[in-house]
Formats: sequence, structure tokens, C-alpha cells
Amino acid sequence: MPHDTDELAALVTGGAGPVRMVGAGHSFTPLCATDGTLVQLDAMGLVHSVDRQKKRAWVNAGARLRDLSPELERHGLAFRNLGDINVQSLAGAVSTATHGTGAELPCLSAEITALKLMMADGRLLTVSREQEPDVFNAARVSLGVLGVLVEAEVQLVDAYRLHRTTWAEPLETLVREANGRWQARRNYEFFYVPFSGYGISISHEETDAEPTPRPEQDDDEAVLGLKRARDYSGSDMDGRRGFLGAAFENFEGEDVVGNSWELLASQRNVRFNEMEYHLPVDDALPVFEEVVRQIEKTRPDVFFPIEVRRTGGDDIWLSPFNDGGRVSIAVHAYHEDECDFFFSEIEPLFREAGGRPHWGKLHGLKYSQFSGLYPEFEMFCSIRNRLDPEGRFLSSYLAGLFGVEGW
Ligand SMILES: Cc1cc2nc3c(=O)[nH]c(=O)nc-3n(C[C@H](O)[C@H](O)[C@H](O)COP(=O)(O)OP(=O)(O)OC[C@H]3O[C@@H](n4cnc5c(N)ncnc54)[C@H](O)[C@@H]3O)c2cc1C
Repeated sequence: MPHDTDELAALVTGGAGPVRMVGAGHSFTPLCATDGTLVQLDAMGLVHSVDRQKKRAWVNAGARLRDLSPELERHGLAFRNLGDINVQSLAGAVSTATHGTGAELPCLSAEITALKLMMADGRLLTVSREQEPDVFNAARVSLGVLGVLVEAEVQLVDAYRLHRTTWAEPLETLVREANGRWQARRNYEFFYVPFSGYGISISHEETDAEPTPRPEQDDDEAVLGLKRARDYSGSDMDGRRGFLGAAFENFEGEDVVGNSWELLASQRNVRFNEMEYHLPVDDALPVFEEVVRQIEKTRPDVFFPIEVRRTGGDDIWLSPFNDGGRVSIAVHAYHEDECDFFFSEIEPLFREAGGRPHWGKLHGLKYSQFSGLYPEFEMFCSIRNRLDPEGRFLSSYLAGLFGVEGW
């Protein structure tokens, strides 16, 4: 855990390889794992400078989103959007194209306007649209294989409040209304609860209204309640559906106003495994319905909700959203439950529809599949090879993703 760039350079050039960077370690794939040197930037500060006029800030790329948000708020600024949680580091979130939801709102990587990247030889390279644009386009989603993201300049917006509403409704309504809601609302997503016929919608709209008290979050308790419903109902699927349906009839949604970053991010303390694919907008909802049918046909053990979100497009080489925005479908399994069905039963449905996997979540793809999914994949690989010819930042898992032979 270096304190400055000199200490960092000593680790990058002299530490046992592979050198891997870790933020919060919240990725589900072994992106950070190494027998060599694991580098974390938590001791390298928070916000370095703020340009209030441009609404941009240079920050420690390794800082956690949950620490950056309150500090940026003191400068009257905020992230345009956030994902479900905010414990990640900015660099970790950016490196895997972490996203929230909103048809016009891009992933976090697209909010980066410049980066200071430490390369394998310990030198710092500043990249932006004007300076080394190819490296900039590669580095914004790069899984830590080009070098260490040391500092990042982030495009922010004026701090804002959101009006959050949540409600329950039948599956048919969720599917019928989703596209219209993505068009009409700032942030919209839904969670479908398998074997219930119901799901929860979550919507956020900007508001000037005064903040209201927010009841204590009970998402974790709700998920454990779904587990209990599964465990108690056993093979009685009608009983489970009836019990869950009754619970949804009595669902009390939220209706609160608060700071954007406090409402967008939630707590997720029940451990799970997850696969999320980003699909072309027009094909996504039929695929979602197919995923529901498949799980309800063959996987009575699944109780975690299926999450559906939409993200705006960008122009980053390895961003899953670089061809005009996509709809993301995420399936989850309790951490003690078997999750092989992600790969055998669900991933083929996502793949067939032209889906691209979330870089930080479970998937079964390697170089040969990725090179066909991203038009600029080979350009990325050649920049990786130029910046890190010795493979200081490569593990065997990453060599498999980027087609480096003989590793
Ligand atoms: C409970 C939970 C909720 C989640 N919710 C969402 C969500 O709503 N939306 C979404 O899109 N994803 C979500 N994710 C996935 C998560 O956002 C990503 O996996 C993200 O990468 C995790 O950030 P991290 O700081 O833990 O990164 P890590 O997992 O630590 O690292 C991710 C990658 O970034 C690289 N990296 C880290 N720091 C640096 C650095 N300084 N320089 C260069 N490379 C670096 C690592 O080497 C690795 O390749 C969720 C995950 C969990 C566990």
C-alpha cells in the first residue's frame, strides 16, 4: 500500500510479479489474484484538485466511491450516476465498466476525462482525448493490464437530489412498461423475484424538494426472507408462489428524497455469485423472459432476484456499451449454492443474443470469443503489448483473456 508515486514505482518495477492492483476486491472473476505483488492505492489521498467551472476533479484513482462522494459534495459536485453499491474504488469500477441504470447515463469509465497511468517501467503517462488518445481509449476499461491508474480526472455534475420511489407489480407489467420507463425516467431498473410472478421497480428523478427521512434499508433482510421462502416450501412450488405473491400484495414501497449518492447506492451484505451480460436494447427483454422461463423450469434453488438495467453508450474500446448503449441482465446465486447453471443454462441465451459480459462478473469467455465481440480488441492487445511487453501486469487468467501465448 504505497504512500506516493515513488513507493508505487518501486513496487511496480521491483516487486515480485505478477503485479496486480486491487480496489475493493469486489469483482467476481480473478482479476486481482496474484502470487506476486498486490497493490492497493488507499493511502494515496482522496480529492487532489477541483475545477468548479468545468465540474471536474483530479482524484486518487484508488479512492473509494463512498469516500469520494461526500468529499465532492463539499465542492458542490457529484457523480452523474452510480451503481448499486459504492464501496468500490474508482479505478476498479472504471477498469471493469461499472454502471448504474439510465438510458442516457453512461458507465463510470465514460466520465473519465484524463488519467495518470504508471507503466511497467515506473514512468507516469498522462492520457486524455488530446494526449495519447489511443492509450486513453484503451485505458478507461483495461482491467489493470496496461498499468496502474494512479490519478483520474472525472467529469462531474452539480450536486443534486433525487426522489426515489419503489413499488411492486406483476412480471407482465414490468416487461410491458420497461422501455417506456427507461425513456421517461432518469434512472429506472427492476428486480424480478423468481417463482413469484412479481418484481420491484426502482425509479429516481431529480428534484429540488427537501430531503425526507429514509427508513432503515432492509434489502438484506428481504433477500434472506426469499431464502426462507425457498427453504420452507421445498418442492411445493405453488405454495412458494402463493406465499411470495401475498408478500408482494403487501409490499410497502419507498418514497423518499435525498442526496444522489446516498440514494443510488445500497447495502449488499448477503454474499452471492453473479453473472451479468449487457445486451442490445431491442433483444434484451425477450431474452430476459427466456431467462425467467429457464430458471423457473429447472432451478427451484434460485431465490435471488434477477436485475435488469439500462446504460447509455460511449466510445471506449473495451466498454460493453461502446455501440450505443445496452440493457443489462444479472442473475445471482446465494454464495453457498451451486452456480454452474449460469454457464450451462443462462450464458448461452445471453451469447446467442450478442451479449457482452460484465468484465468483473462471472463469465466463461476467453480471448477467442472476446476478439469477435469488440471491433477494437486487437488494437487494445497491441497497446497492452507495447506498454507492458514483459507482462509484468499479466496473470495466467488475464493472459487467457488477452491471447498472450506461452504464459
Ligand atoms: C455487491 C456487489 C454489487 C455490485 N454492483 C455493481 C453495479 O451496480 N454495477 C456494476 O457495473 N458492477 C457492480 N459490481 C461489480 C463491481 O462494480 C466491479 O467488479 C468493480 O470492478 C469492483 O470494484 P473494485 O474496486 O472492487 O475493483 P477490484 O475488483 O478490486 O478490481 C477490478 C479491476 O480493476 C483493476 N484495478 C483496481 N485498481 C486499479 C488501479 N489503481 N489501476 C489499474 N487497475 C486497477 C483490478 O486489477 C481489476 O482488474 C458489484 C459487485 C458486488 C460484489
